[in-house]
Amino acid sequence: WTQTRTSTFDEAGARKMNEIAKTVFAPIYPVIARNAMAVTGISKGTCLDLGSGPGMLAMAMAREAPQMEIIAFDFSEASGRIGLENFTEAGLGDRIRTEAGDVHAMPFKDASVDLIVSRGSMFFWTDLKSAFSEIYRILAVGGATYIGGGFGNLELRDQVIAEMLERDPTWDCYAKKKAGADSHRRFTEMFREIGCTEFKIIDDETGFWVVVSKTA
Ligand code: SAM
Repeated sequence: WTQTRTSTFDEAGARKMNEIAKTVFAPIYPVIARNAMAVTGISKGTCLDLGSGPGMLAMAMAREAPQMEIIAFDFSEASGRIGLENFTEAGLGDRIRTEAGDVHAMPFKDASVDLIVSRGSMFFWTDLKSAFSEIYRILAVGGATYIGGGFGNLELRDQVIAEMLERDPTWDCYAKKKAGADSHRRFTEMFREIGCTEFKIIDDETGFWVVVSKTA
């Protein structure tokens, strides 16, 4: 596990993600941020971006939700550092706080986060049940999640996939593969075990997104 973690998201991996996020993927983040707010109805309070990487979704949230306090969270030291550079460069240093840590054991208080967003990270989590138990623990009453992967809309999806394949014909769209047909059943079972009754799975042209709500 440690090996996967260091080899995939070490300095070189984090720099590569930064380059892609700032070029080919750049247009998707504002769309995903707006989708997250539209689906959950949340645009105030604290927003946590899990597996934030270079921080493009955190930055889009900061811009699209001016009333929110944003936290960018990632276990990769290199990603955290690159994210911080990006926030400062974009003049968003005072809007976004960075925290280092693993989604499977997070340093946040119970019921303390209103909106939890995450893009392209879940597919790397080693134990979805413990990660989502943690997510449910820190979710505030009235809060919701928008966690998954995708490119925001059909047009952007086609554009990003075409550009990525042009750059690298062997590029593997992991989200497509791992979200898979069986995932609805697996998530339903997992949420039943966690004791979380309010959730929905979005699997459409916006991507694959897990929306968990907490009302009590
Ligand atoms: N969300 C960013 C984006 O869409 O541009 C980055 C996506 S990148 C493919 C996946 C990120 O998830 C990496 O920065 C990685 O360090 C982070 N990550 C993976 N597993 C994690 C875990 N268990 N805890 C915290 N971060 C994790």
